[in-house]
Amino acid sequence: AMAMNEEKIWSATVLTLFPEMFPGPLGQSLAGNALKNGIWGLETVDIRSFARDKHRSVDDAPFGGGPGMVMRADVLADAVDDVGSNTGRIIYLSPQGRRLDQALARELAEQDGVVLVCGRFEGIDQRDLDGREIEEVSIGDYVLSGGETAALVLLDAVVRLLPGVIGDAAALDEESFAHGLLEYPQYTRPQVWEGREVPEVLTSGHHEKIRAWRLARAEELTRARRPDLWERYLRATKSRG
Ligand code: SAM
Repeated sequence: AMAMNEEKIWSATVLTLFPEMFPGPLGQSLAGNALKNGIWGLETVDIRSFARDKHRSVDDAPFGGGPGMVMRADVLADAVDDVGSNTGRIIYLSPQGRRLDQALARELAEQDGVVLVCGRFEGIDQRDLDGREIEEVSIGDYVLSGGETAALVLLDAVVRLLPGVIGDAAALDEESFAHGLLEYPQYTRPQVWEGREVPEVLTSGHHEKIRAWRLARAEELTRARRPDLWERYLRATKSRG
């Protein structure tokens, strides 16, 4: 049993037919170091271990006909129930879901953890979604062959927000979407490269001018590339007065 005063670490439980895909890329670099240092935890549950028949089948043909297979309602529900309900929100990665964005990543980072359900084939049985409290989250308007890569994307976005994962927390405050804008362009050495110079203001040492230049570039970029974000930014700026 856990001691009363022991901090519970942010933990992800991933239900999948391919547990060997985890931690995958999240075992490296920032997320990987944080995993090794116990800043977050990752557990996989092999959905196939809940199969009921001697063939260990996890999918079947869709009622009503049509191409492909669907994950069996009973097998997946047993896997979900085995995880239990005190582990955090249950999210099914799905093209029909709420679109993942920085706000949702922040929201999830503030919780104790998350349970992720990775679909395969044509997806999961609607009754699992209706009968268990499962939310749906999409990583974008395209179709992946399985939920595992989507789960890795979601976890990457969340884990880097956990306290202690990124050494310089100020970096999070500057980056894209933090204040509703895309990030300004970045430059490093060499100062002149292939005849291209770094914008002069960045080598001026004048912090206020640098800040103003970066804000102007971020606004320009957002307005040109993402009218949707720009509109929202303008509204928020106006209402702040
Ligand atoms: N038949 C489904 C449809 O048309 O919406 C697509 C199923 S897809 C081939 C298999 C699995 O990949 C899904 O169950 C889901 O878990 C995952 N997946 C596919 N695209 C995704 C996306 N954009 N975001 C999150 N998960 C996705």
